[in-house]
Amino acid sequence: MGQEFPAPDIIVAGAGAAGLSAAIALADAGFQTLCIGRLDFGAHGRTVALFEGSLRFYRALGLWPQLTPLAAPIETISMIDDTGAAIRARTVTFSASEIGLPAFGANIENNALVEALAGIAKARPNLTLHEGFLNDIAFEKDSVRATAEDGTVFEAKLLVAADGRKSLARGKAGIGARAWTYPQVALTVFLAHQQPHRQISTEFHTRSGPCTLVPLPAKDGAPNRSSLVWLMGSADAKRRAALAPDALAAEIESQIHGFLGTMRLDGQPGFFPMTGLRVGRLAGHRIALIGEAAHVFPPLAAQGLNLSLRDTANLVEILEDARRLGRDIGTAATLAPYSVERRSDISVRTLGIDVLNRSLLTDLIPVDFLRSAGLLAFAMIGPLRRAIMREGILPHGHLPRLMRPQPSGPAGTNEPALRRTRPSRPQRLT
Ligand SMILES: Cc1cc2nc3c(=O)[nH]c(=O)nc-3n(C[C@H](O)[C@H](O)[C@H](O)COP(=O)(O)OP(=O)(O)OC[C@H]3O[C@@H](n4cnc5c(N)ncnc54)[C@H](O)[C@@H]3O)c2cc1C
Repeated sequence: MGQEFPAPDIIVAGAGAAGLSAAIALADAGFQTLCIGRLDFGAHGRTVALFEGSLRFYRALGLWPQLTPLAAPIETISMIDDTGAAIRARTVTFSASEIGLPAFGANIENNALVEALAGIAKARPNLTLHEGFLNDIAFEKDSVRATAEDGTVFEAKLLVAADGRKSLARGKAGIGARAWTYPQVALTVFLAHQQPHRQISTEFHTRSGPCTLVPLPAKDGAPNRSSLVWLMGSADAKRRAALAPDALAAEIESQIHGFLGTMRLDGQPGFFPMTGLRVGRLAGHRIALIGEAAHVFPPLAAQGLNLSLRDTANLVEILEDARRLGRDIGTAATLAPYSVERRSDISVRTLGIDVLNRSLLTDLIPVDFLRSAGLLAFAMIGPLRRAIMREGILPHGHLPRLMRPQPSGPAGTNEPALRRTRPSRPQRLT
């Protein structure tokens, strides 16, 4: 076997944000855990907006103090109809204070999050990080055997597949997946701009999809920063990928009607084709799927990693229960509740985002009417708006232990609080 550390109970395949978070949570729950994956920092210009449930997850694991300095709070979400439709929807504004929270969540750079989680994972008891890809996985009766690219073979009771949308583990377990594409590419980039964002995430709904600006923390020389996710057709993406930074910044400024003043790119842009993926089941003999190995959809409403952390919180609870009852943690029977309990949350998000995205891409008047009527209802009906806000940040129903509110912090927030970026005076950017 060639292992120089305790034999793992659980192997986590993949060291992205989902895999690293799961590995830390499983190790903290007392499972000897091995995370195998190559650290990947290719998510140029990408952030994850993490909502209250995810913040609770990281607080429960004691990780939030290390992540807070990387994150900017999102206190308000504003949605603006920029489709040019004959029936134009009303602008809708959601404020976290309406549901008793100081913020909906926090926006954090994807690469910075992976780097911080990897650093934490390396120092965590019960956890070993083995950097490199898995080349092969074999599911035996009593164990799962995973072969790393350096030839090392590892054996455990259970493999948690967090190896992304093309998951090797999912394929080896014979779990079917249906993947589809959207006629869109997401342009992502960090921006330094003249006007403060005031902790508001602003979403312009355009005919090619949303164009969203989300607050980022200040840094030296750039007091006002936001991240951009702009969905567009592939021809536009190709043309914009070839633009000089200043020309691209000017196009972004024009697209958002200059509401943040002059801006410049603060890093390399990224271009990500939009896809969707659903799996036949979420678990089987000696395998449980989490993260993008289990579900993929476009980044509308910022749900991907939030959903992945809910997968993990749920799985940890099921495995703890199984251990307490003296059961084998890797059998299909032990893992069956995971598949059942996660199914509806994942299905609702995948379907809801698909419908919302496609409603923007079409210019059929009845569809525009329905979308406008929906947004008008959110704007006008307070209880409906609050219900949507709560459901967006944390679905109702059973809350796993890692997502329950902790008693210590101030109401609804828990310590430590997010650092609010002090609104700065408008800056001239050269
Ligand atoms: C433009 C964009 C914006 C987004 N915004 C948000 C947001 O605001 N909020 C939110 O919650 N989510 C958001 N998401 C989704 C979020 O980024 C992902 O859910 C998140 O990165 C978690 O991904 P993951 O770890 O499951 O997969 P990945 O990040 O793809 O990680 C999978 C890992 O597995 C590794 N791997 C692959 N094959 C193997 C193998 N054979 N052996 C070992 N390792 C392997 C890969 O190298 C990779 O490191 C966004 C996504 C996009 C594209």
